Formats: sequence, C-alpha cells, structure tokens
Amino acid sequence: MNSGYHALAGVQAILRERQLDALIVSQPENRRYLSGYTAPDHGIQESSGFLLIPQDGEPWLLTDSRFTLQAEAEAIGYHLHVYRRGLLEALEHLLPQLDVQSIGFEADYFLFSTHARLLGLAEKLGFRLEAISNLVEDLRVVKTTDELELIRQSTQLNERVFTHVYSQISLGQTERELARLIENTMLDFGADRPSFDTIAAFGENAAKPHAVPSERRLKAGETVLVDMGLVLNGYCSDMSRTFVLGEPDAIFLERLRLVRAAQQAAISTIRAGVTGAAVDQVARDVLREGGYGEAFGHGLGHGVGLAVHEAPRLSPHAHTPLAAGMVVTVEPGLYLADWGGIRLENMVIVTEEGSELLNQDTTFLDL
Ligand code: ZN
Ligand code: ZN
Repeated sequence: MNSGYHALAGVQAILRERQLDALIVSQPENRRYLSGYTAPDHGIQESSGFLLIPQDGEPWLLTDSRFTLQAEAEAIGYHLHVYRRGLLEALEHLLPQLDVQSIGFEADYFLFSTHARLLGLAEKLGFRLEAISNLVEDLRVVKTTDELELIRQSTQLNERVFTHVYSQISLGQTERELARLIENTMLDFGADRPSFDTIAAFGENAAKPHAVPSERRLKAGETVLVDMGLVLNGYCSDMSRTFVLGEPDAIFLERLRLVRAAQQAAISTIRAGVTGAAVDQVARDVLREGGYGEAFGHGLGHGVGLAVHEAPRLSPHAHTPLAAGMVVTVEPGLYLADWGGIRLENMVIVTEEGSELLNQDTTFLDL
C-alpha cells in the first residue's frame, strides 16, 4: 500500500515554497508513507535507508545491500542508490549530479553525529543545510480512504485479540504472563507486531499510566488495566480496557462510570473544526466535577496511523482545529497511588459531523 504519489507531490510543493532544492527523509514512518518501502529502523542508529526528495523530478531511495531487493520491489517510482558506507557517501555522490544548493533534513529524527558530518560535507560541496520539523508528519495527519480502511482493520484485529485473551485471564496469572499472552495472540492472529510494549497492570500497579508488567499475580476483586495495540499492514491500533475479574466493588464501579462519562462526553464533542484542547477540556471537566481532577495527569489522546503516537494531540496545548479524516484515541483515566487506576481508550475517525467509533466499546459491566 503506497499512499505515496500525491503525498510526494505535496512534499515537492512545500520544498518549492520554502526554496529548498531537496529533503532528506530519515524518519521511518515518513519514509514508508512517501515511498511504500516498508523496512523499519531498529533504532535511530540502525537506519534501513533514507529518501532524497528533490524539489523537481524523481525521488531517490538510498540504502545498503541488505535491503536492495525489498527496496526495488516496494519503492515504485524511486531511483535506488545502494551505499556501502552510509548516507554521507551517497550524498557526496548524488548531490552534485542533482545540482542541489540547499537541503533540508528531519531535525526530529537525525543523529547529531550524522548532522556534524553533513555540515562538513555542506562546507565542502557548498550547499546550505536547513533543519525541518513536521513537514511529512503534517501531510500524514489526515488519512486517505485507503489508510482509514487499514486502521479499521488494525483496530478490529486488536479487538479480536482482546476478546480472545479476555476469556483466558485467570486468578494467579502474572502481569507478564498476561502481556505475553496478548502479544503472542497478536502474532498468532496475523499482526505484524505489537505497536508498543503491552501494558498489563493489576491492583495498585494500575496507578502508573505506563506500568511495566511485573511478576505480580492477579488476586480476586483486583483491577486489571490492559493497554494494547498492534500493527497490521503497517497501520497501528491502540486501546485500553479496565475491568475486574469477578465482582467489582462499589468504588471501582463509581470511578469506572466517571471515566466512561468523561470519555463519552469527549467523543460526543469531536468533529471537524473543534480543537484538541476543547475536546480534552470536556473530559477533564467531567473528571474534575466528579472529584478526580488531580487524578488525570496525561493528555486525553493522540493521533494514530503509521505511528502509534502521532499528530494531532488531544491535550490542553492542542490549538489546531481537528479535520475530517484524522484518527485519534480518546483515553481519559484516573490514577490514585495507593489504590490503582482506570483508563478507557477508544479510537475514532474525525468526520465533518462528528466521529466514527472504531472500537466495540466493551466495559463488561452493566453501567
Ligand atoms: Zn494505549
Ligand atoms: Zn494511546
């Protein structure tokens, strides 16, 4: 799936506007988005390649011989340059041919040490270097129809994994066992991989929004907080569920109802034209009025696509209006140090009139 061609034209239009002759794309999801080349990076020091997008003309994919066959098969419309010693060698070879006087690089995903060497090359060849932020990311924010379908499929598979695992959760299981069961089931059901390290937190461990699964065993009546997502055909999903095995107590039910009310109020506010800050505020108000304003520290949600965390944000600082075709999570929570926590997270597509809920929205309880 290559969202590529019109996106590439979009990048080139921006390069003309900014009077840049070319852009080096190093960020793996941006690279995939523009070229269709799917190889991930294993950390920023282990790049699977770079795109060199000239202002006009055909783009280049620069990579090493490990990826030649994959690059040829996937990056349709791209010239391939295979380097032995990395990006700098490739640029030294190509930039003079392409008559590049000014070049942008992705400041949010570029090693400082590579930048230092690139500065040296800029001096030697006489080109100008410019740090660029969010150029391709901004194009990725509104999804195409094809991308929305892939995100729906990713979310549906994530739901299927959860339903399957839910029937196998038992007392005495450890957090690590549950997290491993979730991730193994993702792979068994055909996911590319988990989209982040699965969170499974029991009891007071759920007070940490990003708890790391431990050897703690599940006891009767305890909260189970699961936050899980997978990648399918490159596109991510992300959801959280909080529940109790057996009979929940009144305090859990009261708090769960409140978080759910915050989530529903926020979702009903979402539509094109509303800011992420306004949506965040609605959820925050519900929690504050319920007496838990202090217990909700993180932002309400984030965009999801090729990356599991991307623009736009639903947070007090998000002042750009949402647009139709954006995909966001809505994940209010409350976290109390000596008690535990609750988070409910669903994904929605922003539409002109409102939103499309992508999850089954199960709470397992008659609220
Ligand atoms: Zn999540
Ligand atoms: Zn999330």
